[in-house]
Amino acid sequence: MELMRFKMIEEAMNRSALEVKAPSARPSDYFGSKVFGRKAMRKYLDKRTYEALVDNIEKGTPLTREIADSIASGMRQWAMENGADHYTHWFQPLTGGTAEKHDSFADPDGHGGVLEEFSGKMLIQQEPDASSFPSGGIRNTFEARGYSAWDPTSPAFIVDTTLCIPTVFISYTGEALDYKAPLLRSLSALNKAATEVCQYFDKNVSRVFSYLGWEQEYFLIDESLWAARPDLVLTGRTMMGHEPAKSQQLEDHYFGAIPMRVMSFMRDLEYECHQLGIPVKTRHNEVAPNQFELAPVYEEVNLANDHNQLLMTVMDKVARKHRFRVLLHEKPFKGVNGSGKHNNWSLGTDTGVNLLSPGNTAQSNLQFITFLVNIISAVHKNNGLLKASVMSATNAHRLGANEAPPAIISTFLGEQISGVLDHLVEDSDETIRFDAKSVFKMSGMTSIPSISRDNTDRNRTSPFAFTGNRFEFRAVGSSDNCAEAMIVINTAVAKELKEFKQEVDAKIASGAKKERAIYEVLKEKIQASKPIRFEGNGYSDEWKEEASKRGLDCETSTPEIFKRYLDAQTMEMFKELGVYTPLELEARTEVKWETYVKKVQIESRVLGDLAMNHIVPIASKYEAILLDKACKMKELGLISTADIDLIRRIQDHTVAIQTGTTNMINARKKANRIENMYEKAVAYHDTVEVMFNEIRSHIDALEEIVDDQLWTLPKYREIMFIK
Ligand code: ADP
Ligand code: MG
Repeated sequence: MELMRFKMIEEAMNRSALEVKAPSARPSDYFGSKVFGRKAMRKYLDKRTYEALVDNIEKGTPLTREIADSIASGMRQWAMENGADHYTHWFQPLTGGTAEKHDSFADPDGHGGVLEEFSGKMLIQQEPDASSFPSGGIRNTFEARGYSAWDPTSPAFIVDTTLCIPTVFISYTGEALDYKAPLLRSLSALNKAATEVCQYFDKNVSRVFSYLGWEQEYFLIDESLWAARPDLVLTGRTMMGHEPAKSQQLEDHYFGAIPMRVMSFMRDLEYECHQLGIPVKTRHNEVAPNQFELAPVYEEVNLANDHNQLLMTVMDKVARKHRFRVLLHEKPFKGVNGSGKHNNWSLGTDTGVNLLSPGNTAQSNLQFITFLVNIISAVHKNNGLLKASVMSATNAHRLGANEAPPAIISTFLGEQISGVLDHLVEDSDETIRFDAKSVFKMSGMTSIPSISRDNTDRNRTSPFAFTGNRFEFRAVGSSDNCAEAMIVINTAVAKELKEFKQEVDAKIASGAKKERAIYEVLKEKIQASKPIRFEGNGYSDEWKEEASKRGLDCETSTPEIFKRYLDAQTMEMFKELGVYTPLELEARTEVKWETYVKKVQIESRVLGDLAMNHIVPIASKYEAILLDKACKMKELGLISTADIDLIRRIQDHTVAIQTGTTNMINARKKANRIENMYEKAVAYHDTVEVMFNEIRSHIDALEEIVDDQLWTLPKYREIMFIK
C-alpha cells in the first residue's frame, strides 16, 4: 500500500495556482468598500448625526441615545445594502485572536413576520457570555457577566455577511477582559503627557497620536502536507523533523521571485484587505523558505492593531481558499528563521509633526531629542517589562534563538544619534548660551540640525531600534496581539514624560530658563539610561555577559518573565496612569501563566503521542526487517556488522524515546497536581518542556536512518519548498 505521505506530496506538487479574478477596478475604487468609514457615514447619516459622530471620534464628545439610534439605523441600512444580514460585536479576548457572536438583524414582529432591526442600544452595548473567556479569576471574585462596548474610533466593517462592530470587552465591575480597553487607556495617558511636553515647544499642539506600522511575517505550507502533520495541526509548529539538506544557507529566498501559487494568494489577500480598508503596501519573501512578509502603511495605533487582528483572520481564510495553511507560530521549524511582527512605532502631533523625526532647526531638534531621550529612558527603566509584554510559550522559541532579537531588551540608535547624545552630556555648562530672544543655542547642539534620516544605520540584531523617524520593536511575536507591547511602551513613555515635565517645571520655578532646564534634565536621563544603549551584535554571547553586568533583565524563563507585570513599581505606574488596576494586572498575569501551561501541556501530549504511535512503531518495523536480514545472513555464515550496528542505534534511540516519554508524562502528572498557577507554569517550564529537545533529538536521528519508504510524517524538505 502506498504510504499516505507520498500521496500528500504528490497532491501538493500537482496543485496549480488558483486563478484569481483580477478585480476590474483599481484599488482606489474599492478601497474601504466594506468599511463604514467617512464616505459611507456621509451617505447614510444625516448631517447632525454625522457631525456628532465625527465629534465623538475626534474629540471624545459623548453621543446621546437619540444620535446612537440614528447612527445604528444608517449603519444597518449600509450593511444590508452591502450584503450583511447579521451583526456582531467584534472584540479581542485574552485568549488571543478575535471573538464574535453573530445576531441576525431580523427580529420577529409578533405577527408571524420579521422586521429588520438594529438600535443604538444594540450598537453600543452587548452582553456576550463572558464565562467562556479567560478572566484570570476576576469572574470568580465578582460577577460572571461581561460587556462589550462600541469603540466608535475604529470603523465597523463587513466580513462575509456580518457587520462587525469593534468593541472593548469588560467585566460587570469594569475590569478590562481584553486588549483594546487597556490600549485605549494607554493611548489616552500618552496623549496627555506628550501634549504637555509639546507645549514647551509649540503652544498650538493640542493632541499627540501614536502610530503603528506592523510588519507581519508568516509561513505558508500546502494544506495536504499540513494535514499529515498532527503536530502542525494541533500546536502550530513541528515538534520533530530533521533539517533538510538545503535550508536557508543560500539565502536565495529573501526578496527572490515569489512562487506563482503564493503570488496568487497574495493578490487575493491584498484585494480582501483593501476592501476592508487595511492599507497593505509591501509584500516580499522572507529569509526562510516558504516565509513571507506583509506590511501596511502605518496608522493610528488602535486602528492599526484592529487591522492587524483582522488581517490574521482574513489571511487564514484566504489561505484555505488557495489550499494553503498559514502558520503564524513564531517558530514552526527548527533550525530555520522564526516569524516576528516588527512594530514600527512613532508619535505625531495634531499639527503634523513627527516627534521622532529630526528637524531643521535647533528648536525642533531639542523637541526631537527630548522625546528620543525620554523614550530611551522609559525603555531602560522598563526593559524587563517590555520583554514580558512580548513573551509567550510560542515566542520563547524565537527570542534568544540566533536569528531573532535576543531575550534582552536594548536600544540601537545608530552612530550619529548616539554621538549627539554623548556630546550633549560631555559638553560643560559654559558652552550653552542663550541669546536675547531666548533662542536655544549651544555648541553641543550645532551638529544636530544636520541629522539626516538616511544616516541612521541599520542594526538587524537590536530588539528596539531607532530607524530614522520611528522606533522598531522587533521582539513582538508573529501571532501576538500588538496591543500588549503597545500598552507597555505607551504607558512607560507617558510616565517618563510626566516625570520629565515635573522636573523641568521645578527647575523653571526655581529660576532656570526653560531650555536650560530641559537640557539639564535630559542630560541626567542620557547618563542614567546609558546601559540600555547597545550598538553591537545582539546575537553574540559577549552581549549576554555585558548586558548582565549592565543590570539589564537577562531572565530567560517564560513564567518568571511574566512576573515583571507584578513588580511594585510597575503596578504603581499602571495604576497612576489609569491603564491597569492591580487587580487587572494580577488577573492578566494569571491568564498568561494559565495559557502557558495549556500550550506546553498540549505540546507535551502531541510529542508523546507521535513518539509512541508514529515513531517507535516505524522504527521497530524497520528494526525487525534488519534483524530478519541479519539472522538469515548468520544462517548462511555471513556477518553483517553494519546492519548490526544500525540495529543497535535504532534500539538505543527507541529506548531513549520510550524512557524520555515516560519521564515526561510523569513530570506532567506531577505538575498537573499543582494548584498555584505560577508554580504550575514553572513546573511545566522546568520539568516538562525541558524534555522536548532530548526526545526530539532521538526522533530526528531516527528520521535520518529509518527507511524513507516507512516514514509516515512529511519531512521538512517536503513541507518547506513550494514549487
Ligand atoms: P523594513 O522592512 O525596512 O523595516 P518596511 O517598509 O517593510 O520596512 O516596513 C516599515 C513599516 O514601518 C511600514 O509599516 C511603514 O508604514 C512603517 N512606518 C514608516 N514610517 C513610520 C512612522 N513614522 N511611524 C510608524 N510606522 C512607520
Ligand atoms: Mg522592519
